[in-house]
Amino acid sequence: MAVTDLEATRAMLERLKMPIARERLGDLLEESVREKLAPHGLLDLLLKTEIDAREEKRVSVNLKFSGLPPGMTLESFDFAFQPSVDKNRIESLATCEFIQRKENLLLFGPPGVGKTHIAAGLGIKAIKNGFTVIFVTLDKLIERLKLDEENPQGASGRRHRRAHLVIVDEVGYRPLTQAEANLFFGFVSKRYENSSLIITSNKSVREWSSLFASDEVLAAAVLDRLLHHAYAISISGRSYRLKDKEVMFKD
Ligand code: ADP
Ligand code: MG
Repeated sequence: MAVTDLEATRAMLERLKMPIARERLGDLLEESVREKLAPHGLLDLLLKTEIDAREEKRVSVNLKFSGLPPGMTLESFDFAFQPSVDKNRIESLATCEFIQRKENLLLFGPPGVGKTHIAAGLGIKAIKNGFTVIFVTLDKLIERLKLDEENPQGASGRRHRRAHLVIVDEVGYRPLTQAEANLFFGFVSKRYENSSLIITSNKSVREWSSLFASDEVLAAAVLDRLLHHAYAISISGRSYRLKDKEVMFKD
């Protein structure tokens, strides 16, 4: 193909906003000649290159804005260390069908057993499956909800309402004031049956009323919505944080 023709093709790819295909056109043409690809094979290769690059970008942008902690993937979770976690159950949640069905997941257990790790690992899977995800600690969420209250049309509030999945980490470390508990109730109510939540907590459901300014009615109302379409997983076992320390003591 003449150089000028290639430039014309590049210009069209540019107009179609296919920058990666434009950039790789020369290489892909060479590859198709080398590999003796049929014409539709070249077309496939060109479109796939653009689609794969876009997908990679979408995942990395979403990961960046999600607030998910780095490195906590399901692949790096040592299921053998924590036998109370059913690997099959987590793998079935990782298909993200529960997000499609707008259901919730509650992860309970003492500190260090991997609640945050599993929640974050599921969050990464969700992004890879095309969902939008926000990861936030309860304290940070309350802070943002207070700001949203002052500025109801702000982008942050919209993001929290619209994300397919919001992961609220560390529910239970600090009791909420009545005003904060009301804000959290409002948040859970708005998302109820519209989108999914993953909640991690070191407190069992029975202990939740003490978290909500000892307002048992409010705690029951929050739990009612959270648990209506929900999976609950209780992790019991050793803290992974103390794993090496225990080895040290044995020595
Ligand atoms: P929790 O949220 O239950 O307090 P985390 O998920 O934060 O616990 O886990 C504490 C640390 O230990 C994190 O760095 C996490 O990545 C790691 N961790 C916990 N459980 C496992 C596990 N089974 N396999 C690998 N790393 C783990
Ligand atoms: Mg945690």
